[in-house]
Amino acid sequence: MAFKLPDLPYSFDALEPHIDARTMEIHHDKHHAGYTNKLNAAIEGTDLEGKSIEDILANVSKHGAGVRNNGGGFYNHSLFWEVMSPGGGGEPSAQMNIHKAIERDFGSFDAFKEKFAAAAGTRFGSGWAWLCVDKNDKLFICSTPNQDNPLMDVVEEEGTPILGLDVWEHAYYLNYQNRRPDYVSAFFNVINWAEVSKRFNDANEGASNF
Ligand code: MN
Repeated sequence: MAFKLPDLPYSFDALEPHIDARTMEIHHDKHHAGYTNKLNAAIEGTDLEGKSIEDILANVSKHGAGVRNNGGGFYNHSLFWEVMSPGGGGEPSAQMNIHKAIERDFGSFDAFKEKFAAAAGTRFGSGWAWLCVDKNDKLFICSTPNQDNPLMDVVEEEGTPILGLDVWEHAYYLNYQNRRPDYVSAFFNVINWAEVSKRFNDANEGASNF
């Protein structure tokens, strides 16, 4: 069973003016489709066929660069579309566990925002910024190069990513050119906190302790 490119959960222009329609179209239909097709080609006829993407990434050090790069690209973009939405942004509501966890682990929403933006801004070249849950159910922020992500057994600190921001130039260059900080600021206007909250609760076995 090959991996399938997920549909974008909204129209190409739904995130305007923060992320433009042309960027979304190329990003989904060309880049994400490319990672998906190349991942399928890389695992075809191997014992990875039929395994979940999470399982493949958790043992990615055992596989070739094609699986690492395209498996990451497939997973990362699938998450990325879901954690954005038209009408998103703002702060998670006070009732959400993720709201309480951000205050517990970063001190305040603004402190979280600053740290996440710094991770996205200082990633040299292509990569991603992440908000993750560690094995003790605590939040941490990190960034990874290329299409790596915190599920992979090759990163410094493994965790479950619940929010990710693509800082490859293909994610913003048409609209923002070299102004990555402006793109990062705009991203905060489209974050789908309901989805991030759901992913936090799924990853956080101690959620009922709040
Ligand atoms: Mn991308």
